[in-house]
Amino acid sequence: MKIEKDRVVSFHYSVAEAGKEALESSKDAGEPMAVLFGRGQIIPGLEKAMEGHEAGDSFKAAVTAAEAYGERRDGLTQRIPKKHFGAQRLHPGMQIVLNTNHGPRAVVIEKVGMSVVDVDLNHPMAGKDLEFDIEIVDVREASAEELAHGHVHGAGGHHH
Ligand code: ZN
Repeated sequence: MKIEKDRVVSFHYSVAEAGKEALESSKDAGEPMAVLFGRGQIIPGLEKAMEGHEAGDSFKAAVTAAEAYGERRDGLTQRIPKKHFGAQRLHPGMQIVLNTNHGPRAVVIEKVGMSVVDVDLNHPMAGKDLEFDIEIVDVREASAEELAHGHVHGAGGHHH
């Protein structure tokens, strides 16, 4: 079965900044990632690269910053009370995940003060051309319920 809009795709990936070592891999977590394809749950460049592939396919995909996490934007620095970071030792350049009102968000520490921390809210991979290694594990039709909810149920998806 080929990957197309509204099918459920399970896949392993690793991602690296062009020419560098992998930044993260779904194999670190063990389970493949599962998405309802064609609904913007993964970056646009990756949707383009994956469309039409089938279970068992392995391939590389080069994705420009514009089709990945976008270009870096200025003025996205935010000052946050240090107490929100718990007991972690913080240093500039460090990437951490903050729990915000809109859910977890990856940010980069810019400056650490006595009682406040400046963080850059740009996505850590913004402005970077990325290289993915993709391994398609499974492609299946989505259930009516999954289509109505707009997300995958079961392995790699929502449990509710
Ligand atoms: Zn659901």
